[in-house]
Amino acid sequence: MGASEPVSDTGGGVTSSGKRKAPEVPKTHPELRRNMERGLHERDRVGVQDFVLLENFESEDAFIDNLRKRFNENLIYTYIGQVLVSVNPYKKLPIYTSEVIQYYHRRNFFEAPPHIFALADTAYQSLLKENRDQCILISGESGSGKTEASKKVLEFIAAATGHKKQVEEVNDKLIGSNPVLEAFGNAKTNRNDNSSRFGKYMDIQFNFQGDPIGGNILNYLLEKSRVVHQFSGERNFHIFYQLLAGASEETLRKLYLKRNLDTYYYMSNGTKGTIDTIDDAVQYNEVIKAMKTMEMTQQEQDDLFAIVASVLHMGNVGFTEEDGVAQILKPASVEAVAALLGCNIKQLAEAFTNRTIDAHGDVVVSPLNREFAIYARDALAKAVYDRLFTWLVTRLNKSLQPVNNPRSKMVIGILDIYGFEIFQKNSFEQFCINYCNEKLQQLFIQLTLKSEQEEYLREGITWENVHYFNNKVICDLIEEKYKGIISLMDEECLRPGEPTDLSFLEKLNVNLNNHPHYISHMKADLQTQKVMGRDEFRLVHYAGEVTYNVRGFLEKNNDLLYRDLREVMSHTTNSIIKNVFDVKDLTSKKRPDTAITQFKNSLNNLVEILMGKEPSYIRCIKPNDYKMANQFNQQIILHQVKYLGLMENLRVRRAGFAYRRPYEQFLQRYKSLCPQTWPNYYGSAKEGVQLLVCHLGYEQDEYRMGNTKLFIRFPKTLFDTEDAFQM
Ligand code: ATP
Ligand code: MG
Repeated sequence: MGASEPVSDTGGGVTSSGKRKAPEVPKTHPELRRNMERGLHERDRVGVQDFVLLENFESEDAFIDNLRKRFNENLIYTYIGQVLVSVNPYKKLPIYTSEVIQYYHRRNFFEAPPHIFALADTAYQSLLKENRDQCILISGESGSGKTEASKKVLEFIAAATGHKKQVEEVNDKLIGSNPVLEAFGNAKTNRNDNSSRFGKYMDIQFNFQGDPIGGNILNYLLEKSRVVHQFSGERNFHIFYQLLAGASEETLRKLYLKRNLDTYYYMSNGTKGTIDTIDDAVQYNEVIKAMKTMEMTQQEQDDLFAIVASVLHMGNVGFTEEDGVAQILKPASVEAVAALLGCNIKQLAEAFTNRTIDAHGDVVVSPLNREFAIYARDALAKAVYDRLFTWLVTRLNKSLQPVNNPRSKMVIGILDIYGFEIFQKNSFEQFCINYCNEKLQQLFIQLTLKSEQEEYLREGITWENVHYFNNKVICDLIEEKYKGIISLMDEECLRPGEPTDLSFLEKLNVNLNNHPHYISHMKADLQTQKVMGRDEFRLVHYAGEVTYNVRGFLEKNNDLLYRDLREVMSHTTNSIIKNVFDVKDLTSKKRPDTAITQFKNSLNNLVEILMGKEPSYIRCIKPNDYKMANQFNQQIILHQVKYLGLMENLRVRRAGFAYRRPYEQFLQRYKSLCPQTWPNYYGSAKEGVQLLVCHLGYEQDEYRMGNTKLFIRFPKTLFDTEDAFQM
């Protein structure tokens, strides 16, 4: 458990006092010498492009310092080997133009300054040359730039691929799916004005010429609670504001809507109105345009907006209570919902205020009190919106399917999913998100080690074991059959009697108290750790400790929608609603899976999809909490460096052979450092490199000559390209 032993720093670049020698500047060539001296000077200013070149690679300070130097120079990208670290600049930089795309297209990864286009190009080239499916995994906390990064990858691919009409159409659709999904799945939060409130995995499919032919999107865990409640300073999903701001008077009239946002209860908890950074009316038009690109028919759009409007009306239904029985306060809102979705007003009103229970054939109808009526109504609004979102993804996928669906195709998948969340108060949602991050970390370990081992094998080099912390133990704690947290939660949800959040916690405490990664309040008291509430448990995640409050866990996991409302929904005339509330589900005896089990299954499915692909990683960092340019907050960044596991990432990378280059490339770049390879050299690249490394003074154990590549354990800092591409 915990981090493994540090790797001893025995490389040849280290003096007996343990300090690294300054890089040698060879005397071969006066101009080169001048260049290199300038380069070293530059490095003081702009830092190193690859963290593996840091002399003091185990020091967080050195890591942050390097990030800062680069950030101050607007160099937002840095590598850890093949991993791209990106710091959100919060300002427009001229580094994404078509010239830059051209520059990075078909350029070798290490021959140019770090850039997201370099990563995208490498994935694309590898797809083409090796016919190997790729995936690009983007992680980072809210506001760190994941979604922007995923768009840059898509833009690069669109620009780098063919410009035939057919291909352009596909590219337009791939790009066009974004505004539609963001309208329905993104919202203003206190962290990000355009925060994705769902996880997204998108496959771009290619034919064997390398042209995009289609795509497929998978969505994860939409934050549906936002539909009915927003925190102060936040908003509901963008689409509600866009519709009210951008739709014509006539459209609004058809939807029984008024432009005034204050009219709607579901939009009144958080920030009312508009935000500086977003023009909702303009966005509305963009979305409509994108819906056309996605070939959505007018009927589909009408049905879709009828549902969006119906959700707003549901929020306004309102209840009073007489003798413990809920009464509808605003029948006009019920009428609007019924008209928009196409169902019977009376049945809908009944379903809002009653609950039918079928206990072994005895059908009992009992009226709801006000509290339960509100609960039922909110559950309906959330379910309607959530299912609408999933329908939308399915619909977009239909448009993205390749025309002549070929049986074999190659894909680049892009994963843009929530990063680790640690708040003051962590609930069911954070538990799901952090579980997801554990799974992805596990995948990272498996894939990185796998690809390392494969490369060593390919190159004919003996594999050296690298110590690392394997977080499988935490994944098991959460998802193991019968005794994992998920099993225990489901068991408690299904238990007859009166299960409560606290009885669930008790179950965890009894069953998991001995687990090294589980901390109950008793254990915390004993170990005099940070005190915990009696309704909390703590997990030692790979990224650190998180304390969860169990209140609401069972309710959110059960995710109950009363049958009466489901029944009314399944008989509406709105084709989308009818489709997503299947009548068959009403008669099915099988209990639907709990929320966490559905999530677990979809995550395992995702892991399986990713497992078969060659991964690239983008780790996004936000520089401050104020969405401001030029503000580098050390503390906030350090926190993210920890939770992204970057130090461990670097340590593992440095533990093996940190630096590797194909012989041709290495020779080409450094041949002038050695009199035997400069100015003229006629032998093989491998022999030339051998001469070079000997000349540079590398000892036997410090490097390996692979079949096609040179491997160096501790590279000297001179192996760095200059940031030639500054603008
Ligand atoms: P969330 O998890 O909340 O969805 P995110 O990681 O997807 O967050 P983004 O929406 O991609 O974050 O980025 C937040 C904002 O930061 C963007 O709206 C944009 O203003 C700015 N931003 C991100 N990346 C860049 C970039 N490369 N250049 C300029 N601005 C950027
Ligand atoms: Mg996002």
